[in-house]
Amino acid sequence: MRVIVVGAGVVGLTTAVSLLDAGCDVRVVADATVAATTSYIAAGVWFPTHAGPPGKVAGWGRRTLEVLAGQARESVPGVVMRESLALYRQPPGRPDWAAAVGRIREAVTAELPTGYAYGLRFAVPQAEMPVYLPWLMGQVRDRGGEIVPQHVADLAELSGAGVDAVVNCPGLAARDLVGDQSVYPVRGQLVRVTNPGITLSVRDEFHPAGRAYVHPRASDCILGGTLEEHRWDTVPDQATAEAIIARCREILPAVADAKVIEHLAGLRPGRPEVRLEESTLERGSPRVVHNYGHGGSGVTLSWGCAENVVRILANAD
Ligand SMILES: Cc1cc2nc3c(=O)[nH]c(=O)nc-3n(C[C@H](O)[C@H](O)[C@H](O)COP(=O)(O)OP(=O)(O)OC[C@H]3O[C@@H](n4cnc5c(N)ncnc54)[C@H](O)[C@@H]3O)c2cc1C
Repeated sequence: MRVIVVGAGVVGLTTAVSLLDAGCDVRVVADATVAATTSYIAAGVWFPTHAGPPGKVAGWGRRTLEVLAGQARESVPGVVMRESLALYRQPPGRPDWAAAVGRIREAVTAELPTGYAYGLRFAVPQAEMPVYLPWLMGQVRDRGGEIVPQHVADLAELSGAGVDAVVNCPGLAARDLVGDQSVYPVRGQLVRVTNPGITLSVRDEFHPAGRAYVHPRASDCILGGTLEEHRWDTVPDQATAEAIIARCREILPAVADAKVIEHLAGLRPGRPEVRLEESTLERGSPRVVHNYGHGGSGVTLSWGCAENVVRILANAD
């Protein structure tokens, strides 16, 4: 089967690799450099966030965790298992994501910062995107796929001699490319800082002043964050950045020793539910499978969704 994948973010590239592994001929077309994608600025931590529907997200997430954990074991560039602490002011119960993560324990008092009575300790995969995305591009090319710079104004323009299927992975741009008005931006602002020796990811999803997370990487640290629905601007806001740093210091005091490297903001591809389904263009045109709208979980759901695309094209789903 000859397949064109639109998009070279984490969703398009993992889809391309999975299709190549299934024996397809694959060409990826993308209108932005890898560093200009939303995927590039993602914190890259496995953690289901702002994506639906819950049942499918659980399945895609579980499978992606397995693949990423395997990649961490094989020392794939940029992929590690990250020791993590989720903080709570109220008893957390058993969160939805816990089933996929497996081994979780309650944090002991000595592990909790001031103001917190509860915490959960676990390890999840983390992919350092400026390293992992180029590795994924290399995997596409190593398997004989090509990645071509091209803007697609209409999926119909990809119908052509010998193209059997188009897989549509344009992220937020699905709003323009296929006129899907249910896709909307969920803005996220981050602060990239030096790493003063932090090895533990710490997060408070329910901080009263907004989300707070600290994700250490090999040579820096990502502080977040915000989830601002329907906000389009990607210019980092100074007051927001200061508030993020203050919250992060609360959840992990060692952040006080970090120096700001840069401020970042990106737009998650929000949608009430991930669109992963086949649709038709017109008679005689290639098959089309959509794979977009992963919200704050593009990395978290990537491999599970990619394999689902393969099953759809193999008529096995
Ligand atoms: C601040 C922030 C933190 C995040 N942290 C995490 C996290 O820790 N874990 C997690 O799982 N997720 C996280 N996310 C979410 C994640 O980044 C997204 O869900 C993911 O990047 C979506 O990937 P994508 O490949 O669908 O889209 P994108 O990365 O936006 O890629 C879209 C691709 O499509 C191409 N394209 C679009 N339109 C066209 C067109 N018309 N013609 C040709 N090419 C086209 C683009 O060039 C690009 O290559 C975060 C997001 C933000 C903003």
